[in-house]
Amino acid sequence: MSLNKDDQLETKFIHGATSGPYEQKTGAVNVPIYLSSTYHQDKFDAFGPFDYSRSGNPTREALEQTIAQLEGGTRGFAFASGMSAITSAFMLLSAGDHVVVTEDVYGGTYRFVTNILNKFHIEYTFVDMTDLAAIKDAVQPNTKVIYIETPSNPCLNITDIQGVVEIAKANDALTFLDNTFMTPLYQQPLGLGVDIVLHSATKFLSGHSDVIAGLAVTKDEALGDQLKFIQNTFGSILGAQDSYVLIQGMKTLGARLKQSTESAEKIANFLNGHPLIEEVFYPGLTTHQGYETHVNQTSGHGAVLSFRLPTKGAAKALVEQTRLPVFAVSLGAVESILSYPATMSHAAMPPEEREKRGISDGLLRLSVGLEHVDDLIADLEQALQVASKQVASVGSSR
Ligand SMILES: *Cc1c(COP(=O)(O)O)cnc(C)c1O
Repeated sequence: MSLNKDDQLETKFIHGATSGPYEQKTGAVNVPIYLSSTYHQDKFDAFGPFDYSRSGNPTREALEQTIAQLEGGTRGFAFASGMSAITSAFMLLSAGDHVVVTEDVYGGTYRFVTNILNKFHIEYTFVDMTDLAAIKDAVQPNTKVIYIETPSNPCLNITDIQGVVEIAKANDALTFLDNTFMTPLYQQPLGLGVDIVLHSATKFLSGHSDVIAGLAVTKDEALGDQLKFIQNTFGSILGAQDSYVLIQGMKTLGARLKQSTESAEKIANFLNGHPLIEEVFYPGLTTHQGYETHVNQTSGHGAVLSFRLPTKGAAKALVEQTRLPVFAVSLGAVESILSYPATMSHAAMPPEEREKRGISDGLLRLSVGLEHVDDLIADLEQALQVASKQVASVGSSR
């Protein structure tokens, strides 16, 4: 078994992790879980490839090499969570630096930037990243990082990646991109000039709601060395068992995400035509504000969409009435996940900030899983009927 550099991603998902040197020795089709914190050194004055598992572990390394290969990078890094991947990348900064961050950034990243980074005297500006002029305006002489999330959470706003990379390069700043929603299957930011790609691998990459994990990928060798130094020093690495679980999940990403995307497109169209729904946010709808940009920089629309009901009461009725999706935080799993951003993913954001970003009390987010799409649509349809009655009864009692 061997992989060619130009094999398609679907092929690399399957064979990536076992194409490394260790598995080639035994022929194991699954990467073994190396539960070893330390490694015997044969020689007094020359150490082998591994010495201590915080610094390197063969199971984790198989995962790290796989994600690097999938993202078209040179180095991959596996962390204990998406947040630890993100915060470790921010540790490249120093006091006095400034970062420009997309205003509808993941809630946990928002919390980190506003509550922790500031303690280290790193300044920040949040901007609407659908607007390149606003990004340019936000850049300062001490800006060192521009942080992108596209499509963004939960309103699926689209940022022109190459446009931002140009602004960053002109100002000697790095570009970080959270690629959780698209995965390397649909979006390859390093190829567009982004410096660090970040993932909550808890989501689509693992795909089964079973592990919390984060990944980072770099292309530039020197930047890779710096991030490796931080990973080893800060130490929030992914354990060998979780690395194994993630490797197994990633094998089926191609099949899973394509199927879920196909269903998401059908559901977005169904919701778009429903009288109770005020707005559907999905980058696969030609009416979506970022549609053109999204299509130019990706090869798929993804499996996450949001939609706005008129009231909180209607959202509550819909959630309580649906039978199939789990009602939970998180996304990107085999089971469909319905969530309420106002009190879930964006609970860390003050209400007025939420409203400004369109995360209103009637907004729901749906991550489409692998259930049959007809069952999902039928379920939403009956729940929307109940929600419509709820809205009508509140309206008539006024
Ligand atoms: C979930 C998520 C994160 C945080 O990842 P964890 O694995 O939960 O730490 C970051 N970014 C996005 C877009 C996410 O959805």
